[in-house]
Amino acid sequence: MSKIICSAAIRGAHKVVEKAEKEWKEAMDKWGATEPVGFPNTAYYLPIVYAILGIPVEKLGDMEPVLDRCRILLPPLVKENSPLPYLAPALDAGMATFFAEEIIEAIRYLKEPNFYTKQEDPTDDNLWLGAADDVILRKRGIEFVDGTAPGFAAIAGAAPDPETAKNIAIELQEKNLYVFMCAENEGKRFSEQLIEAGVQIGWPTRLVSFGPDISAAVFAMGFACRVAMSFGGVKPGQFRRNLIYNKDRTFAFVMPLGFVSDEWYANAAGAINWGFPTIADTPIPEVLPTGICTYEHVVSNVPHDQIVRRSVEVRGLKVAVSEVPVPVSYGPAFEGERVRGDDIHLEMGGGKTHAVEWITTQEMDQVEDGKIEVIGPNITDVQAPGQLPIAIVGEVAGRNFEEDFEPILERQIHHLINYAQGVMHIGQRDIAWIRISKQAVEKGFKLEHLGKILHAKLHQDFGVTFDKIQVKIYTEEERVNKILEEARAVYAKRDARIEGMTDETTDIFYSCTLCQSFAPNHVCIISPERTGLCGAYNWMDCKASYEINPTGPNQPVEKGEVIDENLGQWKGCNEFLHKASRGTFDHYNFYSIVNDPMTTCGCCECIAAVLPMCNGIMTVNRDYLGMTPCGMKFTTLAGSVGGGVITPGFVGHGKYNITQRKFLRAEGGIQRIVWMPKMLKEEIKERFDNRAEEMGIPDLMERIADETIGETEEDILPFLEEKQHPALTMDPILG
Ligand code: SF4
Ligand code: ZN
Repeated sequence: MSKIICSAAIRGAHKVVEKAEKEWKEAMDKWGATEPVGFPNTAYYLPIVYAILGIPVEKLGDMEPVLDRCRILLPPLVKENSPLPYLAPALDAGMATFFAEEIIEAIRYLKEPNFYTKQEDPTDDNLWLGAADDVILRKRGIEFVDGTAPGFAAIAGAAPDPETAKNIAIELQEKNLYVFMCAENEGKRFSEQLIEAGVQIGWPTRLVSFGPDISAAVFAMGFACRVAMSFGGVKPGQFRRNLIYNKDRTFAFVMPLGFVSDEWYANAAGAINWGFPTIADTPIPEVLPTGICTYEHVVSNVPHDQIVRRSVEVRGLKVAVSEVPVPVSYGPAFEGERVRGDDIHLEMGGGKTHAVEWITTQEMDQVEDGKIEVIGPNITDVQAPGQLPIAIVGEVAGRNFEEDFEPILERQIHHLINYAQGVMHIGQRDIAWIRISKQAVEKGFKLEHLGKILHAKLHQDFGVTFDKIQVKIYTEEERVNKILEEARAVYAKRDARIEGMTDETTDIFYSCTLCQSFAPNHVCIISPERTGLCGAYNWMDCKASYEINPTGPNQPVEKGEVIDENLGQWKGCNEFLHKASRGTFDHYNFYSIVNDPMTTCGCCECIAAVLPMCNGIMTVNRDYLGMTPCGMKFTTLAGSVGGGVITPGFVGHGKYNITQRKFLRAEGGIQRIVWMPKMLKEEIKERFDNRAEEMGIPDLMERIADETIGETEEDILPFLEEKQHPALTMDPILG
């Protein structure tokens, strides 16, 4: 290693360790040795210290031995006339720097508990996210393991101007990398520049503003250490394994932008321990391959328009670029991005207009592969903020294509469209909701690009199942309504394919973990009588999906021994759930809302909630925008129970599921329903009446309240009493 870099790194390490010692002494004087310290909501303490030294720092006093280790690791300062130092002392100095910086950051959490937002997104008045908690780790870390995100760029400092910052960030996003940001250069910070350039930052867009100071670099390194411990089976204290795991599997590098201070050198040297090289835009000395990496450790003076390409080359990352012919960036990094308020150019669906998406089979000679038609007004025909109804119809043909595959391709539309920068997609079937941003429109995004995305990506991912696909996009009210009607008839037919099946007649259920990219621990297990809560996947669909893609998101689950027949709990399902939720849940019940119901994710068609005063339950569909008797609108409900957790008293479910015989059987099934929006009642009436008839209460629907009766429990209770609703005389629901 170059003498200049080594001396600077060692000098920097001394400064950082001294600062940590000073902060620690002051904190000890103020709070004492037993004061709890740490990063929020994590089982990994100070993760670098824990990963490398195996020391769980829980109290201020626990920091003392760590600081002692820093002192032992710190090499003496390099003298002017001393011989050329070699790499090892600089690496040790870098390691000591990270330990010391974790201590500094932990003490900051003690001194200023609200310095960081402690969530996934910045807030209006706070940009700094601080350490990722374990929820974020589980959700995002898995992407480092399954290859959705190959690694990260740790950026320190700032670009010369916001435009350059934006270009670098987008290039990194396109390579599916996370961007971890810290520190400042000449009073400017990369995260602030992105905001200035109108870029949405936060974990969902993979642009993570960790903190304003260089010490926030430990949040990036700590994240890598935790990935190795939580997904790689590396134990705390197994430092060599942790370093090697990351060198081999995490494609990370450090990108200092601007003047490289002694402290920055110290951090860069620390990162080399993990095999993470440094690629700088300033003319610092270069360091060529030696023992640790087979590639350069430090590459310098790289122009901004080449820095991402150069970094990726140095680190040896092979990026599978998805060739999608759209004028905006495209990839999983843009999946979580939202389009809001002033940014909206065009909105479709979401309760404001009709929006429907449908994949349907056609004869071979009826389909011209890649043909995209927009029938009706296009984006450029509406003034922002505009609205249009939309029907997206994908017509598929193929010798091996089966009708059973339609819903599977259809369910891909959600994430495939979301991958486009500046386009947001929520929902499915006839509750789709799309927003297109002004920025995307400025870049030339038009409605036909939705079709181009589907054509390119469905061929890429599902090409074995079909030969040709063409896409028709309707935006004229009348045509949309016509498609809506046709599609709804098909949805009903698809749903009804499992009509005769019961949960008892099969030993195999299917999992669906498609939604884990949004709700990390969410696991749908789909049985014949419990359709997926998005309403888009039933048991048949999952079976077909497994046939197409045996290693995909729908796996057979052997239901195994019955644990509770009434609640709907099976040993095999529990075991699967435990594995698929990565240890978060060890059981749930298929047929109950009160007793550990299934996990709920954000795309459920309906959410049911217990209404204690009425001794019943209500359920509300996504397209109903009004207030409900549980005191929350659908959006609020989805926000509070839709994160992939179990919330007793609430459960997400599909519309069709209401009329399946096992629907909330543990609480008495549909006899417990005391409130539903009128539109939902009308939609499911026919099937509902049949079920009610079977139960011997043919007029049950008429005894159920809706918004025309009231929107609070107090308001609907007299109606229920008057109608002698069966729920009122049933066992107490919260028994
Ligand atoms: Fe699959 Fe469930 Fe998500 Fe539907 S809600 S896509 S069934 S995980
Ligand atoms: Zn979902």
